[in-house]
Amino acid sequence: MLAPSALRVLNPATEELVATVPTATRDDVDAAVARAAAAQRGWAAAAPADRARLLRRFAAVVDGHIEELALLEVREAGHTIGNARWEAGNVRDLLDFAAGGVERLSGRQIPVAGGIDVTFLEPLGVIGVIAPWNFPMPIAAWALAPALAAGNAVLLKPAETTPLTALRLAELALEAGIPEHLFQVLPGPGTVTGDALVDHPTVAKIVFTGSTAVGKQIMSKCADRVKRLTLELGGKSPNIVFADADIEAAAAAAPMAFLDNTGQDCCARTRILVQRSAYDRFLELVAPAVEAVRVGDPTDEKTQMGPLISRAQLERVRGYVTDDLTAVRGTAPEGPGFWYPPTLVTDVAPTAPVAVEEVFGPVAVVLPFEDEEDAVRLANATDYGLSGSLWTRDIGRALRVSRAVAAGNLSVNSHSSVRYWTPFGGYKQSGLGRELGPDALTAFTETKNVFISTEA
Ligand code: NAD
Repeated sequence: MLAPSALRVLNPATEELVATVPTATRDDVDAAVARAAAAQRGWAAAAPADRARLLRRFAAVVDGHIEELALLEVREAGHTIGNARWEAGNVRDLLDFAAGGVERLSGRQIPVAGGIDVTFLEPLGVIGVIAPWNFPMPIAAWALAPALAAGNAVLLKPAETTPLTALRLAELALEAGIPEHLFQVLPGPGTVTGDALVDHPTVAKIVFTGSTAVGKQIMSKCADRVKRLTLELGGKSPNIVFADADIEAAAAAAPMAFLDNTGQDCCARTRILVQRSAYDRFLELVAPAVEAVRVGDPTDEKTQMGPLISRAQLERVRGYVTDDLTAVRGTAPEGPGFWYPPTLVTDVAPTAPVAVEEVFGPVAVVLPFEDEEDAVRLANATDYGLSGSLWTRDIGRALRVSRAVAAGNLSVNSHSSVRYWTPFGGYKQSGLGRELGPDALTAFTETKNVFISTEA
């Protein structure tokens, strides 16, 4: 008999029921934390080489299940098969990268008089990871891999709509020989299961990825215990196109920079800012490119964009594109599934909700600017500061504008923003702390300083 609170996982492309998943209650969370704390003590005491070997084995087992994990992601999240394969491969790469860090996680020796002074990077203990539905596998692994590598246990609460890949990854961890209870998955509602992790005194750190509103609530709760916290929140990222840029290249790249993952991407370049002298030419080029994006069955290799995650998300996106707005629209399937066409809103006030709030759907606005100063002003006219792109052939301008835009991840003449070996995170209300990159493991440690007298 299924618990009344079980999660119903729907295929967003068809609305068919994929699975029902029991949820973890507060008592389940308490028990999981106790088991994780016990497992973590053994893990932290193991030789670094052994921990590294097990993480490499975990990576190898994931590698052997890329297709299975990708198909699961397609079914529960509606991601295109190409993207889903990349996501599963990203989990493997994150585990490999973190494994390489285990034996390099060194403290320092600092010169002092009368003895020696050394620092140790000690694991925090039990880490609570609260993940969103938009990139269920990679975002979970951004925290999971370095946290385990640094000697911690991980309790992962996936989003309500996408628990399946997380549950499968936990099985694969066991298959690889990762000690039991070191990595557990706790599906359930944020306000119950997620909140229980945030509240729990033994959970030393929360890594939260999700909306800015929930991030703020979690931050204030963590304050009660001075609990460590990393926040990866929303974005409304600019794509700044200067008139001196390769306009053809900028226009060709702009659609997928806001349509990839159906726009459900915290780094989506949803504010396209174009220098006025190039504005008409850019629109002329970008409009047919938006209309030509292939939207449909995510299992079809040729599909570029799938459905939105849920009916609620579909209604949210519809609410932003009001009838009074002028827009270029692509196509979307009719019938079941949470479909919304690629949409580029033109002729809109820079202060309109669709231009300033995170839509988290396949919708962008295009706005003109006058000069470099105006571009930076518009780019920074937001509470968010996660990503951004700028297109120019002037290297001095590229550097000046990259430094002037208040965002954590910028790219010039491209839209890349997330690589597991470079740091990622937000300015302003887009987040707190950094994930990935050379210091990924350090974020899951506490620095201890020890002075040893040589004069006793
Ligand atoms: P959400 O904030 O509603 O939920 C995120 C997670 O938090 C889910 O697992 C949810 O169950 C849980 N949660 C909800 N309320 C909670 C509470 N009170 N206590 C503890 N946990 C709680 O966000 P979402 O709708 O799942 O994801 C979309 C949002 O995530 C977007 O705003 C997007 O920009 C953001 N996002 C940010 C990044 C980033 O790296 N900055 C990455 C992906 C998504």
